Amino acid sequence: MSNDKSNKMETAGASALDGRSGIAAKPFDVAAVRAQFPVLHQNVHGQPLAYLDNAATSQKPAVVIDAVRTYYEKDNANIHRAVHTLSERATSLYEGARRSIQKAIGASSSKEVIFTRGTTESINLIAASYGRSVLSEGDEVVISTMEHHSNIVPWFMLCEEKGARLRVVPIDDKGDLDLDAFAGMLGPRTKIVSMCHISNTLGTINPLKEIIRLAREHNVCVVVDGAQGIPHVKINVNELDCDFYAFSSHKAYGPTGTGVLYGKQHILEKMPPYQGGGDMIASVSFDKITYADVPAKFEAGTPNIAGSIGLAAALDFLEQLDYGVFPDYEDELLAYAHDQLQQLDGLRIIGQAKEKTSVISFIIDRIHPHDIGTMLDNEGVAVRTGHHCTQPLMERFNVPATTRASFSFYNTREEVDQLVAGLKKIMKVFR
Ligand code: PMP
Repeated sequence: MSNDKSNKMETAGASALDGRSGIAAKPFDVAAVRAQFPVLHQNVHGQPLAYLDNAATSQKPAVVIDAVRTYYEKDNANIHRAVHTLSERATSLYEGARRSIQKAIGASSSKEVIFTRGTTESINLIAASYGRSVLSEGDEVVISTMEHHSNIVPWFMLCEEKGARLRVVPIDDKGDLDLDAFAGMLGPRTKIVSMCHISNTLGTINPLKEIIRLAREHNVCVVVDGAQGIPHVKINVNELDCDFYAFSSHKAYGPTGTGVLYGKQHILEKMPPYQGGGDMIASVSFDKITYADVPAKFEAGTPNIAGSIGLAAALDFLEQLDYGVFPDYEDELLAYAHDQLQQLDGLRIIGQAKEKTSVISFIIDRIHPHDIGTMLDNEGVAVRTGHHCTQPLMERFNVPATTRASFSFYNTREEVDQLVAGLKKIMKVFR
């Protein structure tokens, strides 16, 4: 969000001493933060690991690992179905996690927090349940050029099934969404707008407030793919006023295999179930089935109990770390990395949006990204190469693939220097 981001920048400007209050702002102690992430402290190919693949998945702090381990060591049982002590404890931890996540994202009720396997499943759930019930032939779903395949394929499939039209908002050469084009696409046939909060390939922070305001003028449902949002930006779904917000635990320092679909309760209540099975019913006979209320209606089968508990611990960790503090550190690190990389001859950064965070995608003349990725690994630097599940975006920039370095608050300037030194070495070999 552009406004959120500019607020962040203002805080950064006042970082050493808050002139208005006279209170010293909290310094960001990256060494203390890193100490809480066991996996970071290792060598890879004889070099200290520089983990710069955070947009793919983030590492886990000890509190998250402990929450999962303690659950399995002390409380493991299936939830909701038994009266024995362990099951009651497991149920209370699982539902407690839901309430804690509700508070963390500013939802009005824990009924608005559906546990899923991740962003991908959350968006599939919306498409299959909400989308299938509201879309008719000739209707339109609006997405953007910068979407992840998870926010393209489910809508493409739904549009094919319904004879509806998928419309794609263009972006400019810097990677900013064309808001005028977006406004021009909205009309009586538009039923759903689904946009990423932050692009996993460009780092662009989309102007969600403006997107939602424009969509509201046409009474259009807004879905936000928040996979890259939650790890970097404080979310308040109520203030944002989106209808759905989807995110994955593993990108937000929680375990893999878990995620959340936030949805407004009155919408969720009207939606048909997504999958059938245990735990999502009120009663079953061979003649008639009645469904459970939300959120259970959308959680068929045994969920990832430990994952949900771990996710709640991760969001708690982020709150403690302070969304008023760590994003500024990430911004400063990104600016430093931009500066350093731009000095390399023949390197071109793809994505220089006005509002951007934590991701740098780049190409280097005459060197394939896969070679760059493999050779950087030899230097202990973990980056991602390829299309990053955004093939249409690669086409937009006329490149087959990029190398992507993506940063977290636990990364350091020394790690950026390690990346740059590795790239210089690679360039020397290839030229
Ligand atoms: N959307 C975006 C913007 C992403 O970055 C990702 C993961 N790369 C996804 C959706 C899909 O997330 P998951 O694989 O965790 O379901």
